[in-house]
Amino acid sequence: MKYISTRGRAPTLSFEEAMLTGLARDGGLYLPESIPQMSHEDIRALEGVSYEEAAFRVMRPFIGDAFTDDEFRGIIARAYEGFGHAARAPLKQLAPGHFLLELFHGPTLAFKDFAMQLIGQMFEFSLKRSGNRVSIVGATSGDTGSAAIEAFRGLDAVDVFILYPHGRVSEVQRRQMTTPAESNVHALAIDGHFDDAQARVKDMFNDFEFRDGVRLAGVNSINWARVLAQVVYYFTSAVSLGAPDRKVSFTVPTGNFGDVFAGYIAKRMGLPIDRLVVATNQNDILHRCLSTGDYRPDGVAPSISPSMDIQVSSNFERALFYAYGQDGGAVAQVMDELKAGGFTVSQGALEALRETFDSGRCDEDETRAAIRRTWATSGELLCPHSAVGVHVAEAERRAGVPMITLATAHPAKFPAAVEDASGIHPPLPERMANLYERDERVTRVANDLDAIETLIKERIAH
Ligand SMILES: *Cc1c(COP(=O)(O)O)cnc(C)c1O
Repeated sequence: MKYISTRGRAPTLSFEEAMLTGLARDGGLYLPESIPQMSHEDIRALEGVSYEEAAFRVMRPFIGDAFTDDEFRGIIARAYEGFGHAARAPLKQLAPGHFLLELFHGPTLAFKDFAMQLIGQMFEFSLKRSGNRVSIVGATSGDTGSAAIEAFRGLDAVDVFILYPHGRVSEVQRRQMTTPAESNVHALAIDGHFDDAQARVKDMFNDFEFRDGVRLAGVNSINWARVLAQVVYYFTSAVSLGAPDRKVSFTVPTGNFGDVFAGYIAKRMGLPIDRLVVATNQNDILHRCLSTGDYRPDGVAPSISPSMDIQVSSNFERALFYAYGQDGGAVAQVMDELKAGGFTVSQGALEALRETFDSGRCDEDETRAAIRRTWATSGELLCPHSAVGVHVAEAERRAGVPMITLATAHPAKFPAAVEDASGIHPPLPERMANLYERDERVTRVANDLDAIETLIKERIAH
């Protein structure tokens, strides 16, 4: 299996190379050259198997010869053994025809653990085999960073540097990043918002001298291996509701478009998905773009669902690549226009997007109301991101097709917002109850590429 760039001008890579590289050298994102197919029979055969076995069968065709079957099974087993639920991704019913896919039973209580724990195990395996060291650099609005640090802490061949927007992550998110004591963990608080952190990470990848000098590796949701790991739970949840013999729809709380794009891949692999609904908070650029065709960032307004406070949605580029008929030149052009302020999706590409994607937005009051309402009607306490999903799902549901809303984080990760909305204080699970007593370690950095690169070089020299 070969991987190609969405902008059509970077070298073709193997799965392992694409995983270790992250961003392509032409600024694009890697995608498989072709999408492996699962027949209805293959999908039906997933019924009743463990999450790990389903993960093996869904991901195996994408990894080429990166790992043997036994190695890959071992990697998957280690990735998910630390989860706090035997089903890994349990499905709960909220109302007739409406289901909640709980993706928050991993070690940092957000869905990002599904991909990050797997990537941690794959990196460890690959780097041990090659004897190489890498510096992992990532930007986070809170959950990616904590998941990455949890996955890479203490690994010998890796230093992990996480840039998060100072003062704009929840206390639980911050503490999950700043309390690990391992010396290969570096939490960096940048003066700026998430898009600044993400832009500086992209700048580092585009500074080839620095990139090669420190052996930069990326684990942001642009990393193909992360998208791939998230494809699995679309299959397991759909199968438990009767797929492939019954269609299902999904509503996905969306920021960087990685999670919902994984659903798109599942659909292209053959999973009968009816609609994929993109749910945004008040930072609704994706909803506006899918409604009007216009993609024009106009500033981030901080919300109670901070992991979706995004205006430059990286993985949307992957959806555009398919919408533009896999024309890398066309994608490169709209991305150039974005640098100059924004772009308009062509009529043909917009129609292609709308064949699969619906969208909706949920403002702050609606988010709080959804938390209250869902608690009252089902006894499920939602985090604000999941509440955005439930609100939009209720509006976008179609008769006769079950709707699965992805619950992307545990309510205890956002206790202030949840308590404010519902009057209920969500306790942390027992295994992390002492988070508030641990010492914190963090370095404040300016929103300045040179300063950040210098710091990273100093840290890895020691
Ligand atoms: C990252 C995150 C999202 C958004 O996911 P994307 O893949 O960036 O679209 C939603 N909810 C939570 C809790 C998250 O951590």
